[in-house]
Amino acid sequence: MYFRITARALLTRIISGLIASAIVGYLIGQTFLVVSLVTIGLLAWHYSHLFKLIQWLWQGKSISPPQANGVWGRIYDGLYRRIRKQRQKQKQLNERIRKFRDGAEALPDAALVLSHELNILWGNKKASQLLGVRWPGDVGQRIDNLIRFPEFSKYLEDGDFESPCLIISPINTELQLELRMMAYGSDQILLLARDISKIQRLEEMRRDFVANVSHELKTPLTVVRGYVEMVQASDSALEPHWQKAFSTIETQVSRMDRLVEQLLVLSRVENNVDSDNHHQVDLSRLILTIVEDAQWLNQEKKHVIHSDIAPDISLEGNEHELKSACLNLLSNAIAYTPENGVIDVTLRIDGNKIRFSVKDNGPGIKPEHVNRLTERFFRVDKSRSRNTGGSGLGLAIVKHVLNHHHGELSIESDWQQGSEFIIFFKTL
Ligand code: ADP
Repeated sequence: MYFRITARALLTRIISGLIASAIVGYLIGQTFLVVSLVTIGLLAWHYSHLFKLIQWLWQGKSISPPQANGVWGRIYDGLYRRIRKQRQKQKQLNERIRKFRDGAEALPDAALVLSHELNILWGNKKASQLLGVRWPGDVGQRIDNLIRFPEFSKYLEDGDFESPCLIISPINTELQLELRMMAYGSDQILLLARDISKIQRLEEMRRDFVANVSHELKTPLTVVRGYVEMVQASDSALEPHWQKAFSTIETQVSRMDRLVEQLLVLSRVENNVDSDNHHQVDLSRLILTIVEDAQWLNQEKKHVIHSDIAPDISLEGNEHELKSACLNLLSNAIAYTPENGVIDVTLRIDGNKIRFSVKDNGPGIKPEHVNRLTERFFRVDKSRSRNTGGSGLGLAIVKHVLNHHHGELSIESDWQQGSEFIIFFKTL
């Protein structure tokens, strides 16, 4: 029921009440007394209801307000109506929160809601199993007080939440976790942690398998190659068809040998076995050596190799890996550019980055292939690559080396016009 009262109506009621009591008083000859008694009665009635209202508001246990007639009845009805509405809203809100929590509890990942200042607001059960963060016990704590890993602190400091952060579970050292953070609501952050131990173990098994197989293949290959060379070097003249057969065996064994060698390099780089071996590397000198080495690879095709190498550029890293990555780009340019092509090698500082580039005027790469070049065993043209002895592992090695050195590879290529492979490193 809706009740509406205007100031005018209220005033009219008071004045008519007073006039009525004045008339009654006049008729019995006690105008002042009657008006005073009526006014006092009215005041007493209002005060008694005010008293009831205060008592109900502060001490009352029931949600329904006291009963009354007249204007106080309307006031109590209005209050009761508001309370009911509020309760209904609260119920709906609770229902929504319950649904959200049920959803978050059903997640296979740990979920934490953090404030903008990284204080814990809420967490699901998985958060206590994977991260040791208990809800509501840890509410208000800063997340980096509970997850104390240097890599996590750096992740928070960098603020680049595009990529995940990998950590060991703070409560179970056998669990490897992948943490992701994302904006949530207007100024909150959602942290999700996933157990990736199984995936990591499988990945490790794959890497070990490749490394072991490659290693085991090396000995038989060396033996076969040794015998082939022995037969070829022997004095007794071989019949032409045997000569051809042995020369084919030698070529194929060399190819396999290169492939095995590259697989071993890739697994070394993937496993990051040389991660401790980082020191200051004179990149300018390293590139100069590579260009000199490349002249040896270039004997057949006779490309013109221009180099523009700025002096005194250095970088913190693994010299062996850096050399392998840079040489890979240059040997690809030599391998894929037809005879008498032009290759430009440059090293310079570009803004706050070190820029190393190898540009050729070879066949170029079609745009649809560019993004796949760093995949293992990806070759644009298998037959052309086979001729050059390519395995499709070179750029995969480059990618892993750059990952260890916070570097980026950018490939610019125009089909039939040439390609430019650019590496960017952060300056010190
Ligand atoms: P590969 O050992 O086959 O050279 P890479 O991973 O080094 O393997 O290169 C992958 C593929 O990228 C190559 O097979 C080749 O098709 C293409 N590619 C690499 N560099 C160049 C280049 N400079 N010009 C044209 N194609 C290239």
